[in-house]
Amino acid sequence: MEHLHPETICVQGGYTPGNGEPRQIPIVQSTTFRYESGEEMGKLFDLESSGYFYTRLQNPTNDYVAAKIAALEGGTAAMLTSSGQAANFFAMFNLASCGDHIVASSSIYGGTFNLISVTMARMGIDVTFVSPTCTDKELNAAFRENTKLVFGETIANPALTVLDIEQFAKAAHAHGVPLIIDNTFATPVNCRPFEWGADIVTHSTTKYMDGHGSAVGGAIVDGGRFDWMAHADKFPGLCTPDDSYHGITYAEKFGMGGAFITKCTAQLMRDFGSIQSPQHAFYLNLGLESLHVRMARHCENGQAVAEYLASHPKVAHVSYCGLPEDPYYARAQKYLPNGSCGVVSFELKGGREAAALFMNSLKLAAIETHVADARTCCLNPASTTHRQMNDEQLQAAGVPAGLVRMSCGLENAQDLIDDIAQALDHVQ
Ligand SMILES: *Cc1c(COP(=O)(O)O)cnc(C)c1O
Repeated sequence: MEHLHPETICVQGGYTPGNGEPRQIPIVQSTTFRYESGEEMGKLFDLESSGYFYTRLQNPTNDYVAAKIAALEGGTAAMLTSSGQAANFFAMFNLASCGDHIVASSSIYGGTFNLISVTMARMGIDVTFVSPTCTDKELNAAFRENTKLVFGETIANPALTVLDIEQFAKAAHAHGVPLIIDNTFATPVNCRPFEWGADIVTHSTTKYMDGHGSAVGGAIVDGGRFDWMAHADKFPGLCTPDDSYHGITYAEKFGMGGAFITKCTAQLMRDFGSIQSPQHAFYLNLGLESLHVRMARHCENGQAVAEYLASHPKVAHVSYCGLPEDPYYARAQKYLPNGSCGVVSFELKGGREAAALFMNSLKLAAIETHVADARTCCLNPASTTHRQMNDEQLQAAGVPAGLVRMSCGLENAQDLIDDIAQALDHVQ
């Protein structure tokens, strides 16, 4: 059936059992696969025929789940990785190598910021960061001859800025390079970046997709619309023969819909080996089956908590793009018409001490270095992830000492508000 709605794809996408086969996806808990002849296996190694030979590269369970995520995003091919970090690294390193340059939004996940600005810099890949509120002129000025890609997050973790995906896609394409969007916080239920011009989508499936705080994982999806061959000089890895794979030219052999993921699997997964285990892919699929139901509730709870906090006298400021006074409200109306996510951040007037007192007084919301699962949790960056910074440095980084990031789970909204209210009573 063509054109199924996302809700149906969440439940049934990616796997259709045949007569008498298991209804739920089977966990193929095997590192290796048996063949009748060496010739047959040789064809797999040459990418002449498709099939499985070693789970470091591909496994049927992973492929069912990757196919579901590809269908949800409206992409042509997808692969699972062991974590969101691996997904973002692979997606970028599949296009950029030593001597190249990337343009990235400055408002991104701290782990990705570190990956790009420290680890990839050590590999000889330069970066220019641009503000998610930059003008077209500022954005275009960031590009160089050797720029290979543009990177941003639909809703940034933890800043909760919303990216103008169309603006970034237009600039990327004007310079002959693809736009990679990390769609972790929005999920394809609330935003499908390919519809706005993105070319590659990544996920930390650890967050809402798994949704139960049980399995670390990542995914990469290709939208299949970037014409590598039209920019062959920029992407020799896709458009010239790969000597490490028997002289295959990925863009020729697998076309726009398959080249990116095939190269990423055949080269990067082969050499770096950050594969998701089939058991984890199974857990991820259990999460995906209810993603559409859960996202609606996460957004409802996020909205209710944000509105309550915005009206509270001890709260200095609330960031949530579902609030009309939020600077990203208009963008969210365009890109996230059904809601954004359950993560709300807010600053307490009493600063660091008030944040500590507030969080220690919460009874339902737990203090955790995590977001986006069924149970509400919160974090004070100043005393945890950013604790090496003093108050002035925190202010400059846009993470004031009294900032609390709260990830609203699937509990009853009034219970969450009651918990927040009693905890705020403890704050001066
Ligand atoms: C958590 C996160 C990552 C990293 O994912 P892991 O699964 O923890 O490796 C990347 N991007 C975003 C937006 C995230 O929230």
